[in-house]
Amino acid sequence: MFTPILCLHREIKTDSHRRLMDIDSEHTLGVLKKLISIDSINPAFDGGASDERVIAAFVAAELEDLGLEVFTHEPRPGRASVVGRLRGNGSAPSIMLYAHHDTVGVEGMTDPFTPREENGRIHGRGSYDMKGGLAACLGAVRALMASGTRPGGDLLVASVADEEEASLGMEEVLRHHHPDAAIVTEPTEMRICTAHKGFTWLEVEARGRAAHGSRPHLGVDANLQMAQLIAALAPLEKRLRETSPHPLLGVPSMHVGVLRGGSGPSIYAADCRALVERRTLPGERPDEVVVEMEEIVRQVATDRGIEASTRTVLSRGPFEATADSGIRRVVEEAGRDLLPHSNERTGVSFWTDAALLADAGVDTVLLGPIGAGAHAADEWVDAESVVTLAAVLARATRDYCRWG
Ligand SMILES: [Zn+2]
Repeated sequence: MFTPILCLHREIKTDSHRRLMDIDSEHTLGVLKKLISIDSINPAFDGGASDERVIAAFVAAELEDLGLEVFTHEPRPGRASVVGRLRGNGSAPSIMLYAHHDTVGVEGMTDPFTPREENGRIHGRGSYDMKGGLAACLGAVRALMASGTRPGGDLLVASVADEEEASLGMEEVLRHHHPDAAIVTEPTEMRICTAHKGFTWLEVEARGRAAHGSRPHLGVDANLQMAQLIAALAPLEKRLRETSPHPLLGVPSMHVGVLRGGSGPSIYAADCRALVERRTLPGERPDEVVVEMEEIVRQVATDRGIEASTRTVLSRGPFEATADSGIRRVVEEAGRDLLPHSNERTGVSFWTDAALLADAGVDTVLLGPIGAGAHAADEWVDAESVVTLAAVLARATRDYCRWG
């Protein structure tokens, strides 16, 4: 799958028309290694005592060095995102190259912040998700700036905080910047991705009455109450499995991710909580799927005299590029001889900030490097794919913002 990219990447270095997109691979991969060496674990994860200020400062310095105007957005202390901007002359639409700079935790890893290059792979926490994408964005801008030309539309480079938890970073960036289009460089195995699911977390609580197991006349078993509520949700789970599948994403789903109730075998549980996750397809509205689950719970609770309540913990919408997405066409064209699957559209299984960009009316696609081990003990990114990604990003930016 990857061999053609290796060959084609060499070709662009000898093609005069493509010289603008000559990526400084050594510098780009050097930046990637420096990014990996900075601990930027999201504070929500174990071992996440760090915040995003150090990595944000590093990215800001890179962007300044490239000649971009730099904005730092810090909606909460330590949760810093950075946006670099190169103003165009207003004759073309604007683009944002997107990456997040926080990572998940490092449990089970040895030397997570020491980048290690082996057989064309660069290992380390965040290499794949998604400092590889971030380094590619910076490598693309370096090539564009070195071309000596300037854009018609604004170029924005966003390196955001907190994607791995609550997207504080992207939400704040979108309050200050509104590009016409965005390329989200989350890892997609060098495939152009135009869709992913959304998710909603609903907490269901059943309340009983604590009593010793020997005194059943005093107790109400919250766990048994919860069992009835969950049983009532089971037909919905089955129905979702039988929904006609989205061509890129399959069927929607629901599962009970967490179930907690009771304090001991001889005590009637006073309280039981379930955390239900519903994965949504494009076209499904988060508020509607919540209402659907709440109605089921409410009905059973009323019928059986169960004291129950529900609460939406977190809800993120699905993402789907518009059918007439201009940025998709531009990226397809930019990747025609660099991406083995440039004419195919794919979906990814994970959620990304692309959904927030699209919700804000930004024409968005995803394209990111090859690798493995996101959220796992051995994380790596394919070095050549990072460089090739930089070349595609540079070409797409040049074409979309009409540099020259
Ligand atoms: Zn990510």
